[in-house]
Amino acid sequence: MVAGLPKKPMRYFSTRGQTPLHTFSEAVEAGLAPDGGLFLPESLPSIAGKLAEWSTLSYPQLAAEFFTLFAPEIPKDEWHQLTAEAYRRFESPEVAPLKKITDKTYILELFHGPTLAFKDFALQLLGLLYKRQVKLSGKKLCVLGATSGDTGSAAIHGCMGQDGIQIFILYPNGRVSPLQERQMACTGADNVFAIPVPGTFDDAQRVVKDCFGDTAFAGEVNLSAVNSINIARILAQCVYYIWAVLRLPEKDRATCEFVVPTGNFGNVLAGWLAQRMGLPCGTFRVATNQNDILYRFFTTGEYRQGDVHPSHAPSMDIQAASNFERFLYFVLGEDSARIREVMAQIKSGSPVKIDLPATTFRASRMDDDTIVKATAQMWKDWHYVLDPHTACAFTDMAQDRVSIVLSTASPAKFPDVVQQATGSEPTHPTLEALKAKDMQRWPMDATTDAVKAFIRAKKH
Ligand SMILES: *Cc1c(COP(=O)(O)O)cnc(C)c1O
Repeated sequence: MVAGLPKKPMRYFSTRGQTPLHTFSEAVEAGLAPDGGLFLPESLPSIAGKLAEWSTLSYPQLAAEFFTLFAPEIPKDEWHQLTAEAYRRFESPEVAPLKKITDKTYILELFHGPTLAFKDFALQLLGLLYKRQVKLSGKKLCVLGATSGDTGSAAIHGCMGQDGIQIFILYPNGRVSPLQERQMACTGADNVFAIPVPGTFDDAQRVVKDCFGDTAFAGEVNLSAVNSINIARILAQCVYYIWAVLRLPEKDRATCEFVVPTGNFGNVLAGWLAQRMGLPCGTFRVATNQNDILYRFFTTGEYRQGDVHPSHAPSMDIQAASNFERFLYFVLGEDSARIREVMAQIKSGSPVKIDLPATTFRASRMDDDTIVKATAQMWKDWHYVLDPHTACAFTDMAQDRVSIVLSTASPAKFPDVVQQATGSEPTHPTLEALKAKDMQRWPMDATTDAVKAFIRAKKH
């Protein structure tokens, strides 16, 4: 190949089939497809033949090689710079250390990023992709989102201090944990706006949706969404599944079970896509809390939404798994017309019954009492401290194969439940330092007019 020749870009289509093909950069910038669907790559590259070569790479190198397959039009050198920068601030040199607990149980620690939850893996990179976009287009970007906690703080830490980007995050006043609020409001960065609003997460989310619905406003301030459906987030999460398998003894790889604490179905979907690309692994267990819509789906084939009941694992308190549509697309025979039908049915609130083909998914659920018991047991048996989301994995463990549990947050983010289970309060220096900092918050009414006026006033 002649050096410097532009490579043929990968194209991205919408699950609902009514959006023209997008490049990677266009799909990242759009987030949601204009027809309401989710972006997927036109073809899934095969990675099986590359694994031997990839097994000696560092985490950022592996991520760069992987992303080059999905956006070859971005030069490989640039991918290496982007991923080195994205994972530079992780406090573990391995970025995603795989801890062996027993011969049969490993924990993949995904909480060593700046906000101590796995969402940093995607959002540190997404912040840099936004910055790259701004540099190329010359158009400054307003990132807007609503959060119930972890996504907002990870997005803020991905965008803070980035040239040409301002980030506005709405959250329900008094309903995110004090530490999560401090992570959003104590950055000291002048391009970050943490906005508490009265009401629930749904109220905050509705205002954000209405701002995007006003297309004239969205165009005027160059609004960009930060939510869990961006294709770049899913791809960034594929990388740690590959990383983990490459660290297992070879004999355990083909059968191993990934156990994934799940809410929006984004994290576990990434693993399943990696398997479709040829990653050797066995099964995936969808581990839910008492908000068990996905558990019920995988055990009965019926997708029936209920009310959200707040739990000890709040980042999984979800009854509308926004990434589920990508899975359904494959399960329903890659038929966009059928997806449009099924998604309309789900939106109307009626239950949907799907003839589930044989898949590599299993499911489990855990209520709050059991979360505390599982945390206490792991502490007693192995002196390992779990956060309440990760604790949901520790039930129904497979007996006949190796399990890799994805640990999605640091226990120090959820000190109360952990203290209740183990008798001592987990701490982390990053979170301790936050307690001494001044909070900078911009409280306002949960109305579209108030938020739009604020963004216009702050726009640089
Ligand atoms: C977001 C989150 C989850 C759920 O991840 P999904 O991709 O929505 O399934 C689990 N644990 C923690 C700590 C989270 O922040």
